[in-house]
Amino acid sequence: MKRILITGGAGFVGSHLCERLLNEGNQVICLDNYFTGDKHNIVHLMNNHFFEVIRHDVTMPYYLEVDQIYNLACPASPIHYQFNPIKTVKTSVMGAINMLGLAKRVKARILQASTSEVYGDPEVHPQTESYWGHVNPIGVRSCYDEGKRCAETLFMDYHWQNKVDIKIIRIFNTYGPRMHPNDGRVVSNFIIQALQNKDITIYGDGQQTRSFQYVDDLVEGMIRMMNDSGSFIGPVNMGNPNEFTIFELAQLVVKLTNSKSKLVYLSAPQDDPTQRKPDISLAKEKLNNWEPKIPLEQGLVKTIAYFDNLLKQGL
Ligand code: NAD
Ligand code: UDP
Repeated sequence: MKRILITGGAGFVGSHLCERLLNEGNQVICLDNYFTGDKHNIVHLMNNHFFEVIRHDVTMPYYLEVDQIYNLACPASPIHYQFNPIKTVKTSVMGAINMLGLAKRVKARILQASTSEVYGDPEVHPQTESYWGHVNPIGVRSCYDEGKRCAETLFMDYHWQNKVDIKIIRIFNTYGPRMHPNDGRVVSNFIIQALQNKDITIYGDGQQTRSFQYVDDLVEGMIRMMNDSGSFIGPVNMGNPNEFTIFELAQLVVKLTNSKSKLVYLSAPQDDPTQRKPDISLAKEKLNNWEPKIPLEQGLVKTIAYFDNLLKQGL
């Protein structure tokens, strides 16, 4: 039985990771300040004696004994990370320093949840890990993108300088039950709009692309990376390589919900990447043929059922 700390454990991805690691017989400690996370995401785990929850902010140090740390604490949707951009940078950078310091002291392995946003609006397609990115350092997304880039730098430097046992994954757009209903992300927005027969808001011309990964596929990849016995530290892309335009996603959501919604076109947000699709060859090669298994339609059906239930409870 391992003792595992998950920062950001009450969030969307973190809550699925807590659940899976508990089911596999580990002791799990969830640390969260509930900025975008919610106790509802983890309440079903609370009667498990091997689950502990700590209300804490990763920008402040925390001392405890653990074997592994998954560092997920950081708001992930543009609405939330742009709400207080200075805090977003602090969470990524000071959070990384505090958790790397903890890992160093207790000799824990630590995995960083980095992001495809380190590639910015990419000029290379699909994105491989060797691509350095095309990021605006002073735009509205910079607090998130540059914070995550700096966190990767810190992880590598703690590894080289202090021999900390690190792993870095770069997560591409992920969706599923327990996404925040008001986080403005495209999957949650479209599903909630469709279920309420409201207009589906396409930003720009809808021809920008994204690749959508179901959360269970990500969790499987994260655990494989954390427990990889080799010397592979990453960074490694984790995402679904099937690419869709935002227009195609809107059509699919309307079809699966039997909705009467119509599609409306609004202006595109600043620095909105025009295309994004991971090259996952490295993950396949290093992580025992890991690749996403759940097709978009199947994952959307589960996510629609979750939001339908949430709406029936009044969100
Ligand atoms: P989320 O917002 O649901 O989860 C983030 C969690 O971190 C929340 O529970 C929040 O309360 C917590 N948190 C935020 N600031 C904190 C702080 N200062 N101290 C302690 N806790 C704090 O987002 P998510 O989608 O679950 O993302 C989890 C991680 O994965 C994030 O680091 C995100 O950058 C990364 N990621 C997610 C995606 C995606 O598509 N979901 C894509 C790329 C990267
Ligand atoms: N988007 C959209 N309508 C919405 C929300 C988002 O057309 O209601 C677009 C957004 O402009 C972007 C894509 O969908 O091109 C994905 O947006 P999201 O915020 O989910 O993720 P990210 O931009 O971080 O990949």
